Amino acid sequence: MSFVFEPPLTPSVAVAGESLRFPVRRIFCVGRNYEAHAREMGKDPSREAPFFFTKPADAVVDDRVVVPYPPLTQNFHHEAELVVAIGRPGFNLSEEAAWELVWGYAVGNDLTRRDLQLDARDKGRPWDWGKAFDNSAVCGPIHRASNVGRMERGAIRLSVNGAVRQDADLSDLIWSVPEIVSILSHAIRLQPGDLIYTGTPAGVGALAPGDVCVVEIEGLGTLTTKIGGALT
Ligand code: MN
Repeated sequence: MSFVFEPPLTPSVAVAGESLRFPVRRIFCVGRNYEAHAREMGKDPSREAPFFFTKPADAVVDDRVVVPYPPLTQNFHHEAELVVAIGRPGFNLSEEAAWELVWGYAVGNDLTRRDLQLDARDKGRPWDWGKAFDNSAVCGPIHRASNVGRMERGAIRLSVNGAVRQDADLSDLIWSVPEIVSILSHAIRLQPGDLIYTGTPAGVGALAPGDVCVVEIEGLGTLTTKIGGALT
């Protein structure tokens, strides 16, 4: 096949301890999946069905890459999250079958232009400008599920310049990993390369140029992001 210009490289993220990279196909994100975070966003944390939003695959950013302060926002937020990496196709899956699709796990940071997200939410508009911008999907090296097992519990923490902002446990997830994968698979056919950001605990807050944001998940290591200056 020939193209009118050179097609872009496939977006990808690192694999822990390996030289080969994980190709990213799509990025799905769960909204409000920890009770205390739902409350801090002014919402009822009752167990209503989870909802999803997406980011473009090329919004993905590796560990230790400097992220420029994005345009249009005065309230640029961090969100510590467990990321699930899908390695096989699947549709209409049970929770038990959902585990079979999980290739691995990574530490993630769902960077958010909070002012734009909340303005869109309150006007009933799409969340895209708050969530789906360049460099907004920070993702650490993916650890194979065959090495780390099923992620059902473990500390998840985020600090900014050494001060802890978010501190919770994966067992606090309202919707667990297999529940999320199963529910998502009833809406679309999951494909190898899909990433799922599983939601953030309480304590989200603003980042400024020069800040160093570190996310840590027990068993998956750390993810470090420095915030750069605004793009010109
Ligand atoms: Mn999030």
